[in-house]
Amino acid sequence: MSNNDNETQTAETSQSRYNTRKRKLSEEKETHVKEVKVKQDHIDKSEHKKLKPVEDNNEEENGEEVLLNETDDKLEETKNGEPEEVEEIKDDLPSESEKRITRSRKSRKRKLSEEKEKDDEVKPETSRKRKERDEKEVEEVVVKRKHQDAILTVEDWRLQKVQSPIALKHEDSNEYDNFDPLEFHGHWDSEGDASFTNNGYTATVMFKNREAPFLLGGPLHEDIFVFEQLHFHWSSDDHSGCEHIFEGKAYSMEAHAVHYNSKYGSFKDAVDKHDGLAVVAFFLQATDDFENDCFKKLSEAVKEIVKINSTTDVRPDCLTWIKEGAQCKGYYTYQGSLTTEPYFESVTWIIYPKPIHISNQQVENFRAMKSTPCEQHNILNNVRPVQTPQKKLDIIYARSHRLSV
Ligand SMILES: [Zn+2]
Repeated sequence: MSNNDNETQTAETSQSRYNTRKRKLSEEKETHVKEVKVKQDHIDKSEHKKLKPVEDNNEEENGEEVLLNETDDKLEETKNGEPEEVEEIKDDLPSESEKRITRSRKSRKRKLSEEKEKDDEVKPETSRKRKERDEKEVEEVVVKRKHQDAILTVEDWRLQKVQSPIALKHEDSNEYDNFDPLEFHGHWDSEGDASFTNNGYTATVMFKNREAPFLLGGPLHEDIFVFEQLHFHWSSDDHSGCEHIFEGKAYSMEAHAVHYNSKYGSFKDAVDKHDGLAVVAFFLQATDDFENDCFKKLSEAVKEIVKINSTTDVRPDCLTWIKEGAQCKGYYTYQGSLTTEPYFESVTWIIYPKPIHISNQQVENFRAMKSTPCEQHNILNNVRPVQTPQKKLDIIYARSHRLSV
């Protein structure tokens, strides 16, 4: 399908879909604070309950979004004696939210003061009881410290960019259960056309003559991210071909589905913005005896693009192999950068830890691609080494999400 009418129609459909959602989100934004509070699973449950009715109200009113309150965030800041920052954020909030924050702040202050009075009471203790009490206090401090570190708004989080890739460890991440579901739209549809290209550095899948797939929800806040391309990283062996390292383990390949924020209109205009890109990463692990049939659409097609700058047509549903991974609820997300020049810190990374299995030969096919016109060199390693973050890094593990309504 390549005539202009169809392209125009597709573009209009896509545009109107984005516009409708954007309008809706913008209306919602006027009446609600849109914040996400990240926290440990085992935080103070009573605080959580206190906020719950607010979430439920919003859910009913919106029929779609649950908007979490950043009250805890503000309260912690107030407690730490940094009221200026609180006021600054507060200025941007609708008045109803200000009231809500003030109400919760007063109640939290009251609670803290009651707790302090209780702690100040000196009681005789047996050594066993004292030991138990000491252990409990240590535990509480750790939880509280993690809790304080973990609370942040999406806006603040998006500014915490580091260079990518990084080594991910579950113990370094903050679990979070209340993101909107991360939605993949159109990534494995069988409409339109798809191409697979050797650009001398990697193999890239692109779509045309169809509505571009898009991502929304999860850590992406209110934005819609449009699919630009999917490409791969690999190396000369099956144990170092991924860019991100998970729990100290390196996989055979890593696939990156690159999306740009639709509010910038194009990849080119989004690539250097702090909230410009969302890249979904999937690990691929080579095995001796398992050939992944879904992945064949690409692992066979790669034989057609051995020459640099060559392109071949592939089936439009060539990304079905990511479907299983993309439907897992658990993924890691952090704010990072491109892993190729110019290394812009513009990426919200979404990384699925469960590897997709393919065969050794399927990986081997990629290593036959040429990186130069003279065809003397193969693409044997296109992996950027793991970077050491120079500043605080907030990795979120989206363990689950609340149900879609
Ligand atoms: Zn990449």
